[in-house]
Amino acid sequence: MNATKKLVEIGNIVSNTELSADVSALVLECPQVVAEAKPGQFVMIKNEMGSTYLRRPFGVADVDKENGLLLLVYRKAGKGTQELALLEEGSPISVEGPLGKGFSFKEAGRTLLIGGGVGIAPIIYTARHLSEEITGPKPVILFGVRNHKELFWSDFVEDFAEKLIYTTDDGSYGRKGFAIDAIPDILAKYPDIRHIKVCGPTIMMKGIAELAIKQGIECEVSLEKRMACGIGVCLGCTFAGKSGKRWKVCADGPVFDGVEVFG
Ligand SMILES: Cc1cc2nc3c(=O)[nH]c(=O)nc-3n(C[C@H](O)[C@H](O)[C@H](O)COP(=O)(O)OP(=O)(O)OC[C@H]3O[C@@H](n4cnc5c(N)ncnc54)[C@H](O)[C@@H]3O)c2cc1C
Repeated sequence: MNATKKLVEIGNIVSNTELSADVSALVLECPQVVAEAKPGQFVMIKNEMGSTYLRRPFGVADVDKENGLLLLVYRKAGKGTQELALLEEGSPISVEGPLGKGFSFKEAGRTLLIGGGVGIAPIIYTARHLSEEITGPKPVILFGVRNHKELFWSDFVEDFAEKLIYTTDDGSYGRKGFAIDAIPDILAKYPDIRHIKVCGPTIMMKGIAELAIKQGIECEVSLEKRMACGIGVCLGCTFAGKSGKRWKVCADGPVFDGVEVFG
């Protein structure tokens, strides 16, 4: 298990760029947090100039360790993220993290990385890590998005993928349907896939975890629950696993074995 090492650092916004009508990419300079960040972990951020009191959790989308840069990709969901979208270069953001337990990595076999919607964010750093740090074949990456206006994700992961596949809800690009519909063909084409890692809506992760369990493929899922503290104190994000154990998404996860959550 990755130890949670908690730091709070005031980061500066390097860029805050709109990727689509409701999704933006935020690059923050926060070298101490970046130095410790592992794929699948998250940070709790507070806009020092904003009106929301509680920090908001965001997955570590990518890091540039050399330059101390952290990438977050966020969807404008409510007040906090709408205020975040208005911030310009140089604005201060308090960053707490890296928090939680991220994905685990094994050298043997290929990994299928799957992201749905803004759940694609943590897949970027995970793909970089698999491609640059782990010996073995490059990952196959599958993204489920609403339509062709959400293909901006390609720029972040293209270099790390053996193959990048999209499904769109409306069929405007790639295969029409949900990400899970594309998996049988992918497993047939890449029989060396031994691991699946997925982050997206609960219903998507449930279906994929069940499919992986049937096929005997190890599957990790990254859960998203509303959380207030992010460090295992407020117990706002707990759930009962299939083993009967109660888990805290923030401190024991957000990444869990798919068998424990959906098995
Ligand atoms: C571990 C973790 C990682 C996350 N990573 C990302 C990420 O990389 N990119 C991203 O865009 N979002 C991510 N989220 C969700 C993000 O934290 C919320 O969208 C954000 O806190 C909303 O803040 P707000 O003030 O804009 O909205 P609020 O006014 O607080 O809420 C607006 C709407 O968003 C919903 N919402 C708020 N928090 C969550 C949540 N935790 N999960 C689901 N729905 C929520 C509310 O129910 C409400 O409908 C993550 C959440 C968790 C727990």
